[in-house]
Amino acid sequence: MRCLRCKKDNDRVVDSRASADGTVIRRRRECLECFLRYTTYERIEETPLRVIKKSGERVRFDRERILAGMVKACEKLPISIEELEAATARIETRCQEEYDREVESSVIGSLVMEELRQLNQVAYVRFASVYREFKDVSQFLETLQPMLDSREAAANGVDAPRALPALPPRLPPASLANPALDARRPTEPGAEPREERDA
Ligand SMILES: [Zn+2]
Repeated sequence: MRCLRCKKDNDRVVDSRASADGTVIRRRRECLECFLRYTTYERIEETPLRVIKKSGERVRFDRERILAGMVKACEKLPISIEELEAATARIETRCQEEYDREVESSVIGSLVMEELRQLNQVAYVRFASVYREFKDVSQFLETLQPMLDSREAAANGVDAPRALPALPPRLPPASLANPALDARRPTEPGAEPREERDA
């Protein structure tokens, strides 16, 4: 494996372990030139999953792109790359298990938001604010509120939770919820319409 940092192809495997279900082998590698450590995943090649974009265009499911988006959302936050890699793997598994070869990009976006919400509220808001444009300022502020509350708590000497276990009842706004993830949820009046699936 070519090193991400120095680009030399000289590494050793420091750890190998199979996922619980035995479908993926995770290998921790170390570059022998610059000692950067990175992770590779080995899995059986399956029918490639495709993503349906808003335009209707189909593209290959890109694990790296999902990871890169989450890494960006977590910039300067105390979240390890391993946590994000694991989240990416969970998203891919869910897409493969719940969708037959093709998955809408909005579903992936919602899965990413779901993972980030578990990991870190700030990362979640960052991603959500970029991923879906908020309808108006008040909605954006409402989404920010839990984060501001925890900061205020921190300022008052109360330990802020690292990540909120769940959003308060008034959240999430309809535009952050993905109807595809919960078909039973009725569409609220005034809710953002479902993203249209192009024919
Ligand atoms: Zn290197």
